[in-house]
Amino acid sequence: MRFLPVFLDLKAGPVVLIGAGELLRAKLRVLAAAGARLRVHAIDGNQDLGLSSGDAERIEIASGDPLTADLSGVIAIVCAGAGDVGVAMSVRAKALGLPVNVMDDLEHSSFIFPAIVDRGDVVVAVGTGGTSPVVARRVREKIEALLPARIGELAEFIGRFRKSVNERIAEFPLRRRFWERVIDGPIGAAVLAGRKGEADASLKAISDPAEFARADKPEGSVALVGAGPGDPDLLTIKALRALQDADIVFHDELVSSEILDRIRRDTTRVPVGRRVGKPGIGQDAINKRMIEAAQAGQRVVRLKGGDPFVFGRGGEEVEALRAAGIAYSIIPGITAGLGGAADFEVPLTYRHEATRITFLTAHKARDAENVDWTTLTDTRMTVVVYMGLTAAPAVRAGLFAAGRSPETPVGVFARVTRPDAQGAIGTLRDLPELVRRIQGGPAILIIGDVVRHAGSLGRQTPKKTPKQIISDLLDAAE
Ligand code: SAH
Repeated sequence: MRFLPVFLDLKAGPVVLIGAGELLRAKLRVLAAAGARLRVHAIDGNQDLGLSSGDAERIEIASGDPLTADLSGVIAIVCAGAGDVGVAMSVRAKALGLPVNVMDDLEHSSFIFPAIVDRGDVVVAVGTGGTSPVVARRVREKIEALLPARIGELAEFIGRFRKSVNERIAEFPLRRRFWERVIDGPIGAAVLAGRKGEADASLKAISDPAEFARADKPEGSVALVGAGPGDPDLLTIKALRALQDADIVFHDELVSSEILDRIRRDTTRVPVGRRVGKPGIGQDAINKRMIEAAQAGQRVVRLKGGDPFVFGRGGEEVEALRAAGIAYSIIPGITAGLGGAADFEVPLTYRHEATRITFLTAHKARDAENVDWTTLTDTRMTVVVYMGLTAAPAVRAGLFAAGRSPETPVGVFARVTRPDAQGAIGTLRDLPELVRRIQGGPAILIIGDVVRHAGSLGRQTPKKTPKQIISDLLDAAE
């Protein structure tokens, strides 16, 4: 290791920043965001540094020559876009024993800048010995995705209670177990979800910390997670984290294998959904198994296609969890209607033309008969139908009865966001024919004038940006 990561105390004194142009401004942003006191030499004379009024106290624009300026009390020197002045400054700093960084110039730097993940009290620095900032940034992105946004608040929370708890638990290993249980259980989850008051109260309610630490079983919980319509890159960061943390995942049949691949390898997977033609284990049995697993101390994920609260029976599951007193959380997902709209470039609303959206389910013709079609007469309403393939003729009849024109544009979009996605576009009159053109579901119907704006059905694989190409290469190299 040529460069040892250490953390510099910015309270100890000012940092001198020397340079020009955008490079100077970029370093200024990094240092200012970190809270540094700065003395800035803009050697090109352009002193428009994009400072805000609040910066004036901490950031001083220096006018003299940096090569002769007084450096007493200064804690570090940073040069960005400073050219020869940077090199000369490095010689001067080294003679004075001051840490110096000259951007993109290892030879003249005694320290380098890591890529930083900043979560308050939790800071992660990533370095590559100055060889490849691109790789450092890539690693940082991965860590960003891994670390909950409120991890810093969790550290702060523990810091606040540490003294009082430690006074009540004498043995060091038991203290550690106490904090591990807090972090892994509902209290940690509450802090990470931003429910600090609840976390405070629960921690204070622990009457015997040593006994809490000794309990042999962790506290289980259930996360209801929306998996989105199929493309694994459409998982939210939270969903991904839940999949990585889970001990057991109960998943619907609809959830794509690419998404199941994102589950941690040693996690138990239990398919519980209905498959066409085959019944699932049934809602009551699902509820019972989730609750039992959580009571046994497991971190349970209930993984559902799309969003758990859109035709997903998430509501019933939450009620069962509440009744059983299980800690739970809900992580939304991209529902199939939104995935299909994006995939086939159908804007669901459009100024003046479409001002309302209805999501409805028409599972069987019988369900379709139960729909109150008179609520769908407004031609400025876009109608998104779930589970509508077999009931398509009934949907058409209902919309005709509601007075919708046979010429109303309609799209049938199957397996949206997946590699084998398929669409057929026509009018309400042709709906059954459009459905026949589709080779199997799941599919949604989008009905309304907005379908006219749909993009090409032969979806182009999006051209990769240079950034994506680099990151794909790096992934492949791993
Ligand atoms: N909770 C899910 C919906 C479950 S109901 C969500 O929010 O998307 C199942 C129906 O969702 C299917 O019959 C189909 O209409 C729709 N669906 C789910 N995934 C789909 C996909 N990839 N493409 C098209 N429709 C999909």
